[in-house]
Amino acid sequence: MRLFNTMTKEVEDFVPFFEGNVSMYCCGPTVYDSTHLGHLRKYTMDDVLRRTLQFMGYKVKHVMNITDVGHLTDDADMGEDKLEKGARRSGKTVWEVAEYYTQIFHESMQAMNVLPPHIECKATDHIPDMIALIKELERKGYTYTTEQAVYFDVTKFARYTELSGQKLADKKTAVRDEVVEDPQKKHPADFSLWFKRVGRFADHTMHWPSPWGDGFPGWHIECSAMSMRYLGPHIDIHTGGIDHIPVHHTNEIAQSEAATDKHPFVKYWVHHNFLHVEGEKMSKSLGNFITIDDIKRKGFHPMALRLLFLQTHYRQQMNFTWSALAGVQKTYEKLNTILSKATPTYHDAQNISRIFHEALADDLNTPRALAEIFALLDEGKYNHVSAALDILGITTESKPEEPIPEHIVRLAQERAQAKKTKDFARADELRERIEQQGYRIQDASDHRFRLVKKT
Ligand SMILES: [Zn+2]
Repeated sequence: MRLFNTMTKEVEDFVPFFEGNVSMYCCGPTVYDSTHLGHLRKYTMDDVLRRTLQFMGYKVKHVMNITDVGHLTDDADMGEDKLEKGARRSGKTVWEVAEYYTQIFHESMQAMNVLPPHIECKATDHIPDMIALIKELERKGYTYTTEQAVYFDVTKFARYTELSGQKLADKKTAVRDEVVEDPQKKHPADFSLWFKRVGRFADHTMHWPSPWGDGFPGWHIECSAMSMRYLGPHIDIHTGGIDHIPVHHTNEIAQSEAATDKHPFVKYWVHHNFLHVEGEKMSKSLGNFITIDDIKRKGFHPMALRLLFLQTHYRQQMNFTWSALAGVQKTYEKLNTILSKATPTYHDAQNISRIFHEALADDLNTPRALAEIFALLDEGKYNHVSAALDILGITTESKPEEPIPEHIVRLAQERAQAKKTKDFARADELRERIEQQGYRIQDASDHRFRLVKKT
């Protein structure tokens, strides 16, 4: 197996710390909003990596966090806590927001046939681990405390910019013009380990006692503390989006290596590229914020989406288009029909083809692996095709879910509009009509909703 390592900027031979075993930490979702297409792609590709490693005979331990506190709207300690923002927007408590969006995340992963991590850890369940880690960093002289927070002093950690390749001086210039939220902060790149419940966070809902006062942890310390707890000081593979390189993962390295004196904290850094929709960045204001429910509502099968994801290499930026999905859906339906009678065996999986194996072993070249699958299909080697799709996590036996009928969607949209204009009587009446026809509405934030068929 060969993998591109962001640390060295090279495709390297994969050699784990312990032969035959792989520890894999994947940065998980911040559960304050719906799981969208970008997330679906990221976790699907994590899953393909895990399945590929397992197929190659490695014993994988896969850990993923759920961030339910401390992730601010700006990764570099600015703005407000995303969970608090989600609560304010939806009128729910932060705990309800976390639970609601964690559930949506789980449902989305299930639909995409993403294997659940062996350990899924919530930040709020690991506050003592984080406090212990901050205390260790403090003892070693890597921190300083202001009236507002406890910071990691980046100038004390010589390898701070190793992953990003940026110069610390550049970081200083880049943020010079931004609003300084804490005048006692020494260097703009210093990042918060612990936020005190004072000033802009005086009303912060989630808070815990600590040696530095009542407060809550920073986002970065969560991943260092939880990865250390479940995987130890050395991790073979750590994944995340490329946006995590300059701040989140850079900070994780600093915290973990400073605390344990072990280097490297991570052997292979794997980063996923962005996803655009119809050529544009996905955002709520553009109305192109697509969820798994949107995919299903339009009658597409999540496995067709998975197939579409695999057509782009994980390090390439992907441009999602509805027409491309429609094309892949046709292919998927064809596969479903052809493969319904295939009964692959272990032997088939081991002998799919040299090209297929080599493609996956070559930094997870899924586009080439898929091309080989279609070549095998043309040759009529259906058992091999079935086994290959299985390795990539594409199931063919399941029938696509029935799409929600248009008139039900329209009623739900009308209801959302009624709620917006505070016509609650009308909203209730529309909800009843929808329920009478066998569907249920679940309200999300921003007047978004989900429709599910009653069972
Ligand atoms: Zn993380």
